[in-house]
Amino acid sequence: MKIYISADIEGVAGIAAWEEARSSSASFPYFARQMTREVAAACKGASNAGADEVWVKDAHGSGRNMDPSMLPENTRLIRGWSGHPYKMLHGIDKTFHAIGFVGYHSHGGANTNPLAHTISSVTIDYMKLNGEYLSEFLLHAYLASYLGIPIAFLSGDKGICQEAKKFNKNIVTVAVNEGAGASSISLHPNRAIRLIEKEMGNALRGDLSQNHTELPKHFKLEIAYNDHTVAYRYSLYPGARRNSPNSIVFETDDYYEIMRATSFLV
Ligand SMILES: [Zn+2]
Repeated sequence: MKIYISADIEGVAGIAAWEEARSSSASFPYFARQMTREVAAACKGASNAGADEVWVKDAHGSGRNMDPSMLPENTRLIRGWSGHPYKMLHGIDKTFHAIGFVGYHSHGGANTNPLAHTISSVTIDYMKLNGEYLSEFLLHAYLASYLGIPIAFLSGDKGICQEAKKFNKNIVTVAVNEGAGASSISLHPNRAIRLIEKEMGNALRGDLSQNHTELPKHFKLEIAYNDHTVAYRYSLYPGARRNSPNSIVFETDDYYEIMRATSFLV
């Protein structure tokens, strides 16, 4: 069994401020280590359930946050950014049996994580797909569905866990954090790790045929920017149009084009 894990940092246990997610800050190494520990736990859970190969994408910031030596030896770690439209799932293909998300966070426009954002907190106010707020989870969950890969597991803040359940109720989730304004209420970091290992294993032992989600036939992507001059420029992307002074709309029937557009319009 071959498993893919995509990892972010803004949904790991205890995180509550932007400086904790920025590599230049003194408080970053602790959270990079917690991110690594949570991913290592998910890898172990996958191996306990029979995975012989686990691919991990370090999908935060520079893509170079985790300590590779702390991951089990049957993992392959994807560091840095290729520039491919699959972004946080770079390297994934139809040969994977299931996917898990670790350290994921609420979408831009949500109040369920002090670090809620979608792709860029600097450029983007919010993104919507078919009228629903688009999180980084949802963007890549549709990609997994596009490739026919079942989504087994997600850990992160409580808001993104609820969103994953809404996407497919059979996704096993572990909420390690809960946001309230600029604060977070968190599980103990060791307990978070134990739960992630256990529940990732349980997720993969389940009937994964229930974790497939049907894709919509048509996609309408709306991107609202913090700066209206950015919206003007990106409204000139092929197929995009101006929706309001600070937002654009892009429509397609092919989900690959949503992945491509979200690579160029941020
Ligand atoms: Zn991140």
